[in-house]
Amino acid sequence: GRLVGSFADGEDQAVEAALRPKSLDEFVGQERVREQLDLVLRAARARGATADHVLLSGAPGLGKTTLSMIIAAEMQAPIRITSGPAIQHAGDLAAILSSLQEGEVLFLDEIHRMSRPAEEMLYMAMEDFRVDVIVGKGPGATAIPLELPPFTLVGATTRAGLLPPPLRDRFGFTAHMEFYDPAELQRVVHRSALLLDVEIDTDGAAEIAGRSRGTPRIANRLLRRVRDYAQVKVDGRITREVACAALRVYEVDSRGLDRLDRAVLEALLKLFAGGPVGLSTLAVAVGEERETVEEVAEPFLVREGLLARTPRGRIATPAAWAHLGLVPPQAAGG
Ligand code: ATP
Repeated sequence: GRLVGSFADGEDQAVEAALRPKSLDEFVGQERVREQLDLVLRAARARGATADHVLLSGAPGLGKTTLSMIIAAEMQAPIRITSGPAIQHAGDLAAILSSLQEGEVLFLDEIHRMSRPAEEMLYMAMEDFRVDVIVGKGPGATAIPLELPPFTLVGATTRAGLLPPPLRDRFGFTAHMEFYDPAELQRVVHRSALLLDVEIDTDGAAEIAGRSRGTPRIANRLLRRVRDYAQVKVDGRITREVACAALRVYEVDSRGLDRLDRAVLEALLKLFAGGPVGLSTLAVAVGEERETVEEVAEPFLVREGLLARTPRGRIATPAAWAHLGLVPPQAAGG
């Protein structure tokens, strides 16, 4: 996998369980979301009721799965984890829903990728705690209504805008998760280092945090790679110097750009004088597929304000020239 990619790879999955905060108090950052969720859960507990359905939106690796597990833990309820793409037929969903216990949390990741019939079944389940199970086929098919115990649906999606409004409206509470700021990521790194029994100083943690693209999953991954380096090359202790040296080896730069990101930026600056240049031309220049440049490299470059997509093509911003230590042509000329 890609060191700065935000999706979980196999190694991530193995370690993530150990690094997951178990309560709202342990969950770093996302102050607003935490405060709101705390109220929702406390109120439900006080009423002895099942918590309202919760929709979590945000980029991969920001802690949606973690939060859903925390919701279950805070409600002292069991949790079932599944995802939209895993539910192909309405029947799959009916099987899951009918096996839920009272108060159980159902975490549905990538909820926007559920099939249409399953989605419609979910509307009724969320609102009335009821599903219609279809028995038989063709003209003889009958719908048998089935009562469900009250449960809490926690849906996760990369963008709330991807959900059909009728689904979105059935959530009692929607939380939008933002990218984390460097100070928050620094706390994530410190916390993980403690759990992994790694010695790290403040500057070392700040250096890793600054290169983690606002994403705890990436912070944890970079920490593991820097730990490897620290063990093999020095005494195991992570300082800023060690973190910088390690991340130089892994080609993750001071802002968290990896080799592909830098190649795209360099081509844009050096070959096309900062643009505008078309996506296809840029892709050929770096020897990659259009899709790779557009979907893998560009989103972060755009977010960082290093590259802009315009109707005439891709252009570099002044920050891009500064980041690569290059001088834009007009400035160089005059
Ligand atoms: P995906 O959408 O790809 O499933 P996600 O948003 O569900 O990602 P998680 O799996 O919850 O992300 O989190 C990824 C890793 O980051 C976990 O190891 C988790 O421990 C850590 N993490 C996420 N958020 C926080 C946080 N607020 N504080 C501390 N650690 C966090």
